Parts: sequence; C-alpha cells; structure tokens
Amino acid sequence: MANLATPVFSEGSVPELSDETLAGFSAIVGNENVLTGKADRYAYSRDRMPYGLFKLRADSLPGTLPGAIVSPRDADEVQAVVDYARQRKLRLIPFGAGSGVLGGTVPLVDEVMVDLKRLNRIVDLNTVDGTVTVQAGMNGMQFEQELAQRGFTAGHLPQSIAMSTVGGWVACRGAGQASSRYGKIEDMVLGLKAVLPNGKKVEVRPVARRAVGPSIKDLFVGSEGVLGFITEVTLRVWRQPEYATPLVLAFRTIESGFQALREVMQSELRPEVIRLYDEKESAQRTEGMLEFADRPILCIMKFSGKEQLATVERDMSLAICRKHDAVLAGLAPYEHWEATRFHSYSTKWQSDGHYMDTIEVTGTWTHLLDMYTAMRVAAQAIHPEMHFGAHWSHIYPEGACQYMTVRLPPMPEQDAILLHQQAWDTIERLCLEMGGSVAHHHGAGLFRNPWVRVELNEGLNMLQILKDGLDPDNLINPGKLALRQPTGSTWQMKESA
Ligand SMILES: Cc1cc2nc3c(=O)[nH]c(=O)nc-3n(C[C@H](O)[C@H](O)[C@H](O)COP(=O)(O)OP(=O)(O)OC[C@H]3O[C@@H](n4cnc5c(N)ncnc54)[C@H](O)[C@@H]3O)c2cc1C
Repeated sequence: MANLATPVFSEGSVPELSDETLAGFSAIVGNENVLTGKADRYAYSRDRMPYGLFKLRADSLPGTLPGAIVSPRDADEVQAVVDYARQRKLRLIPFGAGSGVLGGTVPLVDEVMVDLKRLNRIVDLNTVDGTVTVQAGMNGMQFEQELAQRGFTAGHLPQSIAMSTVGGWVACRGAGQASSRYGKIEDMVLGLKAVLPNGKKVEVRPVARRAVGPSIKDLFVGSEGVLGFITEVTLRVWRQPEYATPLVLAFRTIESGFQALREVMQSELRPEVIRLYDEKESAQRTEGMLEFADRPILCIMKFSGKEQLATVERDMSLAICRKHDAVLAGLAPYEHWEATRFHSYSTKWQSDGHYMDTIEVTGTWTHLLDMYTAMRVAAQAIHPEMHFGAHWSHIYPEGACQYMTVRLPPMPEQDAILLHQQAWDTIERLCLEMGGSVAHHHGAGLFRNPWVRVELNEGLNMLQILKDGLDPDNLINPGKLALRQPTGSTWQMKESA
C-alpha cells in the first residue's frame, strides 16, 4: 500500500510562556488554577500512550512540555480562555484525565493544557425521560457511583472508568465493557454543549431523534479536542439491572466461537457482557480447568436486567453455543474478570522493562477469522519473542472489535521502538486491506495518524476544511486526528513508499 505516512520522532524542547501571558490566564481562572512548575508540566506532557512511556524510559518526551496548565471551573471560563488564546494566537489542548492511549493530549509545540476536571458534577437526572446531564470533566467512576446511588446506570463501563472523564469518553468515541447491551458512547449521547475554537458556544439539544440535517452532535463524538471543548453532555440512562446471571463456556475453536456469537447477536439477544478469548489469552485464565483440555477457547457471558428476560436470553444463548459444540465450564474465569475488570494489566509488564501495547480494530464477520490469523502470523514474524494475544469483547450483529495485545521483551530502546512501530504498521495495514476500521474505541490521537488518513480518504479533507473554518490558526489541539501539524511540531511526519 503506497503513500502511508510513517511518524518520525524527535526530542522534546522546553517552551516558556511570558509572565504577562500567564497573568492573563490567572485573571480568568484564578492564580491557583494555573500551573507552571516543571514537575506539573512533565506530568501533563504525555498521556497513557505506550510510546510516550518508552520515550520516558530513555529520558525523553513524545512531544514537548506544555506551556502551562489552566483549570477553568465552568463553560464561561472555558470560553474566556479560548477567547484570550485566540487573541494571542496561543495553542490549547482540551484535557480530561489523560488516560488516552494514542497521544491525543500530547503537546507538540508549546500548547497550554486546559484541564476540565473542575467541570465535575451531575447537572440533572431526569428520571421521567431516563437522561442525565453531566459536566464533561466529571470522573467516570464518580459519575457511575452517583448514578448507582440513585438507582441508575449510564451503561458505559470502560476498563479505565476510574481514570477517565465523561467528556474524554465522548471525545474519543469510547466503548465500555457492557457495549453489547448498551452500545458504544455514540449510542448513548443525546445532546451536548461545546465551546468552539472561534470562541462561540454551540448546543445540540438532547432529544431521542431528529431530522435537521447531518448530525452536529456526531461531529463532536470522536472529535478528540480538535473542534473545541465539550463542556456538558446529556446521556441516556437505564435502571440498575435487578438481576444478573453469568455463563462460562469452552469452545473447540475460535471459528465455532465466532459462529455462536454471531448467531447470538443476529438473534437479537443482548448479553450485557460477551468476551471470547484466543487460545493464548484463554490459557492464562483457565489454568487447571479440565473443561478446557480439548476445548481451549474461553467465552464469558453475562445477562442482566429483568430476571424473566435475562433468564430467557441466557437460556437461548446457551442453546446456540451448545449447537456450536461449546460446553458449560466453572465460573472461576468470570469471577476473576468481575473482580479485576477495572484494573490495568500493562503496569506489571511495562515496569519489568517489556514493551507492551494494545491495538483494537473493528472487523466484519466475513473477514474476522482471516484477519485474526493474518495479524497473529505477521506480528509474530516481527520478532521471535513477540507476544500476541487477542480477545473479542464488543460484539455486534455485523462483526466485532478485535482487541490485541502485543509485547516485546526487554531490549535496547531504539530497537524496540522500531519493532513496535513495525507491529502497528503491519496490523493496521492488514486491517485496511481486509475492510476493517483501524480503530474501534481508542481513537486516533497522534500515533494512529498514518492509517487514519488512509481509512478516512477524502473524508479527511472534509474534516480539515471544517477545522480550518473554525480554527484558521490551528490553535486547538493541532496535529491530532490526522489533521495538519502545527508549525514547529516536534512530531514530524514523512510519506513512506
Ligand atoms: C488501562 C486503560 C484501559 C482503557 N480502557 C478503555 C476502555 O475500556 N474503553 C475505552 O473506550 N477506552 C479505554 N481506554 C482509553 C481511554 O481511557 C479512553 O480513551 C478515555 O475515553 C479517555 O478519557 P480521558 O478523560 O482520560 O481523556 P484524555 O486522555 O484527557 O483525552 C483524550 C482526547 O480527548 C480530548 N478531550 C478530552 N476531554 C475533552 C473535552 N471535554 N472536550 C473536547 N475534547 C476532549 C483530548 O483533547 C484528547 O484528544 C483505556 C486506557 C487505559 C490506560
């Protein structure tokens, strides 16, 4: 495939904003809400993108230090910050909690981080309509806990729920672990408010459906900060399920697992959770369990809601799985998953000196098995000790998200960075060739730019025209989502053959 851009990384620099500029921010948000110390600026210089961690190990940065960090308390202060920055041609980055894994908040020149975590409360829970309006900077776990206390759930439960914000979920077009029942975040957002790069406010009123032209709402769902600041979101909410019942199954092959999952979803059954693991990931979770001796593929399901309905869904799903030669297994893998579902697995490996990353793509049922096989074989050919494992936990009638873990053993930094880049390029190119989407829920950020360009094709020009119209000086999160890099960017791109 020709004309794919490949990132060329360069070292970070240390931009300094003048005292006068900083005083302007202080006048808007208060002195105590402007951070300028080196330690704070280092803390905000990278998100959870593994490449940023690899650079840190080598005493380097993925981009630069931010010029400063400012924390407005409400939408009016966000608007004032944007106006001030526009007048002075200062660059800004919307910052939720920094849990993004693709560099979406990495400063590239001298950007000022606008930390939105002070916009942190539920504005209204409408129990008649079943909607909640929430400020965008609210922590995900606190949000769900407050909803739970009032008997509701938004149904968006990402693994990173405790380290991310509601606005970040929307900006990244994220997916939670209950997506097979409640959908992705784009299925939940009914309306929102935002401050545009031109300093104006826009509101998409929260209603069930509309026919007033292309969806303005969806311009923001997945916008990754490039079209402005989401300040408030209205989401659909559901009553907390009154009943839940799990299943653990052992399949002979991934193929029979795929066939069963496809039939479950195409039969209009909606398990809250479905997770199918490849042989490597299954083995880690089923050690010593006899059911998996000749059926090495683990599948976990959970059904919830009204007891009568959940029971029927469970029984029908079980019958479908049995038809595809699955057997019931003990609940231990489910219980372990439930107990650790919001933990991060990478910490242990990264702190041991390994190079670990995750890549999630969307495939159609037509291609998914071939896609898995081709990606596994190609990734393992990159290095004899390359770990490759996959699972499928966002399942749809048309296909599924394939979530892959790649891991290299400890080795010199520069070698690892090249092999890591090669793994990404190999997997994303195969995804493009096999008709998938190069990103299911982590977004594009910075690291995915080359492959996002190919997938979006002329659509990227449409986005760039919109960006240029709203943000002619390229001031708001420049260089992300495959859009034009800012002048002097430390993340340079070149076209590769
Ligand atoms: C261990 C781990 C597990 C994860 N699990 C999941 C998972 O299960 N599902 C999933 O979807 N993701 C997951 N992620 C990725 C990440 O948590 C999500 O992308 C999350 O939605 C990011 O939210 P945040 O508030 O941390 O955003 P940030 O990282 O702060 O920002 C991400 C992007 O959104 C923009 N942005 C943030 N807030 C706003 C706003 N209010 N207005 C405009 N732009 C904004 C930023 O500019 C940036 O481009 C995981 C990450 C980690 C480290």
